[in-house]
Amino acid sequence: MLISYDEFGRRADAIRDRIAAACAAAGRDPAEVELLAVTKTHPATAADFAARYGLRAVGENRVQEGIEKRAQCPAALRWELIGHLQSNKAKLAARHFDRIQSVDREKLLAPLDEAAAELGRPLPILLQINAGNDPAKFGADLADAPRLLEAALARPHLRVEGFMTIAPLGTDPADTLAHAERTFGNLRQLRDALAGQFGTPLRELSMGMTGDLEAAVSAGSTLVRVGTALYGNREIPVAPTA
Ligand SMILES: *Cc1c(COP(=O)(O)O)cnc(C)c1O
Repeated sequence: MLISYDEFGRRADAIRDRIAAACAAAGRDPAEVELLAVTKTHPATAADFAARYGLRAVGENRVQEGIEKRAQCPAALRWELIGHLQSNKAKLAARHFDRIQSVDREKLLAPLDEAAAELGRPLPILLQINAGNDPAKFGADLADAPRLLEAALARPHLRVEGFMTIAPLGTDPADTLAHAERTFGNLRQLRDALAGQFGTPLRELSMGMTGDLEAAVSAGSTLVRVGTALYGNREIPVAPTA
């Protein structure tokens, strides 16, 4: 069961308050930080709520789930892929998503670029970097980021808008916060260095989720991806018993 729209509105207000407070603490303008509603595992109504509230974009982590939900949701929204992308689904993803945040290896670039050429429009992408050196996470290693960026910039139909990362979880809240600060600081530094080196703004820093958005905003996040604080816990599908 999904929450009511009124409840969604209260929760979205609370997230915006958290973003505003983190911006105030960091001396930033809250208009620089967009809220991406992560609708994965929730019904299409979750995306309708986001649109009705005035959010511009939603995030999905599976290609097929995103395509199906988008077909059921007539609202004007941008749909962004934030989950791991298999090479054999790259062209499909390019056709159905407005931006792909999870470009983490060179092998994805050719199929994405070809699909964008066929569509006749540039495809916005973010490069996903494993900025926290988490063995359990997808994302290019920090050391490989310059090469991946150079290869992506050479593709005529891809528009590289910045970077995305996910911070590793720690063993307790203080450890998790330390990982978040280190990860987001690394991504910010990487972006600043590569923007200078390649002479392109790479403006977007997609970092921060329900549990660590303050640390992300403080490090320069321009896009926080929030699911749990908006829609509640995601149910883990249970196999039906015979
Ligand atoms: C699920 C997911 C989120 C949202 O996480 P919450 O903790 O529920 O806010 C953000 N980013 C990615 C890549 C995700 O897969």
